[in-house]
Amino acid sequence: MKSVAIIGAGITGLTAAFYLKRKGIPVTVYEASGRVGGVIQSLRQDGYLAEFGPNTLLETSPKISQLVRDAGLQSRRLDPDPKAEARYVVRYQRPIAMPSKPLGFFTTDLFTLKAKLAVLREPFVPPRRDNVEESIAQFVVRRFNQEFLDHAIDALVAGIYAGDPYKLSVTHAFPKLKALEDNYGSMIKGQLFGARDRKKRGEIAKDRAPKFSFDEGLQVLPDTLARQLGDTVQLGACVTRLVQNPGEWIVEYKQGGAELRAEHAAVIYAGTALKLAELKIESRQSIDLAPLSEIRYPPVASVVLGFRREDVAHSCEGFGMLIPRIEGFKILGTIFSSSLFPNRAPAGHHTLTSYIGGERYPELASLSPEKLYELTCEDLRVLLGVRGKPTFQHCVFYPRAIPQYNVGYGRYRALMADAESKAAGLFLAGHYRDGVSLSDSIVSGCNVVERVEKLMRANSPSPREEPIISQ
Ligand SMILES: Cc1cc2nc3c(=O)[nH]c(=O)nc-3n(C[C@H](O)[C@H](O)[C@H](O)COP(=O)(O)OP(=O)(O)OC[C@H]3O[C@@H](n4cnc5c(N)ncnc54)[C@H](O)[C@@H]3O)c2cc1C
Repeated sequence: MKSVAIIGAGITGLTAAFYLKRKGIPVTVYEASGRVGGVIQSLRQDGYLAEFGPNTLLETSPKISQLVRDAGLQSRRLDPDPKAEARYVVRYQRPIAMPSKPLGFFTTDLFTLKAKLAVLREPFVPPRRDNVEESIAQFVVRRFNQEFLDHAIDALVAGIYAGDPYKLSVTHAFPKLKALEDNYGSMIKGQLFGARDRKKRGEIAKDRAPKFSFDEGLQVLPDTLARQLGDTVQLGACVTRLVQNPGEWIVEYKQGGAELRAEHAAVIYAGTALKLAELKIESRQSIDLAPLSEIRYPPVASVVLGFRREDVAHSCEGFGMLIPRIEGFKILGTIFSSSLFPNRAPAGHHTLTSYIGGERYPELASLSPEKLYELTCEDLRVLLGVRGKPTFQHCVFYPRAIPQYNVGYGRYRALMADAESKAAGLFLAGHYRDGVSLSDSIVSGCNVVERVEKLMRANSPSPREEPIISQ
């Protein structure tokens, strides 16, 4: 049996490869860079554990915990310190804890009476039924008010997408919010009455989903999957062209200065939208993925700093703080990494992970490391009372970090669906299509396996079941 080519050894590609191999379907993974994990990057150094890409994995679907078990990583799973539940949003130049219970909303300093009344009014705001696609900003102002956008949603959007709320589509970037309005007529009513429906579907809302990592950071997951896949993962192999022949796909790639080609039964593209737009694809029916080059992937710098505890006035007990643009800081937010997972800093120290850039200040992300440390320290001084020099500093620049599901993103998704329907055996999966979170990418990797398996079973009678590990 010819193998399935998987382009990209980020979490989507590795999840897909892992489960295909487990089902007895041979795979070859092509990864352009010299490492696996894509944007996931954990670094253990000087007693600190720095996480530059995603920090936590949300268990939004049973497929997430299943993957952890199937990979044999259950014993390395690390749940956050239960004391680190508090989330802060900056207002009046200081972090204010978000209310953890509904009643707390009415006593918090985070919102004025006007915003609180807007929340009480929301269930009576009629749903919009004219099919006009709104930005998340338009949606929130219509259903709540401007203050709610400026002081809460703007910060949340920066934390998830490093995005601009006036551009991000509520339909594509926050489909569950839109669904609450569509199905229940209101977000508040949907929150109250939707829990039962979510339970039936086996889904867990993102704000309630348990989050976790691993003893040595999230990099443990791609590293483990890659180890179990062995030499089917080819590093430094950049795929440049795909050619569809009857019953097979030719993959052309560059590796170590050589131009190579291989025959495959099918191809899963699990890279980025921008690289997909550059890929030359010759299929029997013509497809056009070039417009995907228009998708915005703003740059982000992740800045991880260590401090002695006595040099930080704030307790840093909690998940972290989100910062709305209106507060005028340079950083988008900070994760209190060593409160969340105590093994992330030596005793008596804090690890703080901050982000700079995104759609808010794209020009700042590419500043020199020294300048990034300086800007971050300056903001942390005001917000957390940080003094003195960091005891650890490291940063990673992501020139193209997270795709922006802006208003009109449906056009790109339609092009992807069209390409798949015209080019049988070509499958598109990952963060640029099925949701930008790590858990979305894992679920996308699992789901594409089912689609590929269907094709493979149609073409060849019975691939052998082959568990990679037994547990
Ligand atoms: C700074 C940052 C912070 C984040 N924080 C969180 C978080 O806290 N929680 C969360 O849930 N999510 C977070 N995310 C999002 C999440 O990490 C990603 O959505 C997810 O990891 C994407 O995985 P992927 O496999 O789809 O893509 P990627 O990780 O981008 O991997 C794609 C891979 O494909 C390779 N590739 C591309 N084209 C080719 C080609 N032609 N040939 C060969 N290889 C190719 C690339 O080199 C890359 O390794 C964050 C993302 C960033 C950037």
